[in-house]
Amino acid sequence: KAFTRSLYKIELHCHLTGSIRIETLNEFLREHGLQKYEPPKSLTLKNCFSAFPLVHSAIKTKENLRRLTFETLADLSYANCIYAEIRTTPRALNDINKAGYLETVIECFKEWEEGDSRLIPRLIVSVDRSKSLREAEENVDLAVEGFLSPTNKYIVGVDLGGNPSSGNFKSFIPVLNKARENGLKVTVHCGEVENEEEIDGVLEWGPDRLGHFLTCSDEQFQKAVEMEIPIEVCPTSNMLTLDLPLNVKSLKDNHGTLQKCMESNHSFSVSTDDSGLFSTHAVRELWLVAQAYELDEWRIAGIVWDMVDQVFEGNRKTRAYLARDVRVRIKNM
Ligand code: 5GP
Repeated sequence: KAFTRSLYKIELHCHLTGSIRIETLNEFLREHGLQKYEPPKSLTLKNCFSAFPLVHSAIKTKENLRRLTFETLADLSYANCIYAEIRTTPRALNDINKAGYLETVIECFKEWEEGDSRLIPRLIVSVDRSKSLREAEENVDLAVEGFLSPTNKYIVGVDLGGNPSSGNFKSFIPVLNKARENGLKVTVHCGEVENEEEIDGVLEWGPDRLGHFLTCSDEQFQKAVEMEIPIEVCPTSNMLTLDLPLNVKSLKDNHGTLQKCMESNHSFSVSTDDSGLFSTHAVRELWLVAQAYELDEWRIAGIVWDMVDQVFEGNRKTRAYLARDVRVRIKNM
């Protein structure tokens, strides 16, 4: 694990609220007079989604959001991530509106960058497919407005996520088009549940990255390869979604998408998804993949190196810094 820890890493699929530390969650719940969160004995996709309303009910104020954001940055930084795209669904809290929510997260990113951490934080604005189209439009409008502002440096993309069993991809195409037409990159959660038709629809639309992509057929995987769409793999979360035991052997034997990526050399990233709820961190996620495929140090570093090309960061200079930093680190290890 020492090698995976000290390697400079990149995090591309991290939900802000799901990254909350359980101690912080319980502190917030206590502060608001709400019942303590007891992590379920075995996590599944279903009980994970039932935990989100509780976590949202704990984050009620701007101060709660600031602490959540700083702790998430601190956890990523501790894991030696040097670039992280954190995604979140803007919502009104007691003392701030939706726009204020995004402003607060960005304010924290700015303050963080003024410190001496190496971690470069970037923001992906999420759209929750289980909510209305109107909410989706509001979120994308905020993302576009922020992205087009002359001082923007933080907003880089839009994500479609939320409970995969509700809502349907097609209805969100107009809002995703709007994001794309305005220059934002788009990542779509896809193939978390069996839904062949929807996966076809997502591929036809062609996002810049695919989240999870677990239940795809061989043909669908091949299409992603032909379209050169990188896949965001989140080992712990994916095993829970597939309702499979979480260990190295099971990851190797059952994560078909990761296996296909490894075999075909297709670009993928390794991320945490919801580090708080899934009780994981960036070092562990990369380590799981390294163990499953018995990767030597060069191949582990190669996974991270490949991720540099997958970032949504538009600034060429920042991307070049990132490539240099990862390379120099690998060379010196
Ligand atoms: P937030 O957007 O509030 O910062 O993060 C929590 C939200 O992210 C959840 O309400 C859910 O919409 C989304 N999310 C977190 N984990 C997953 C996941 O594994 N799959 C999908 N589809 N959505 C997720």
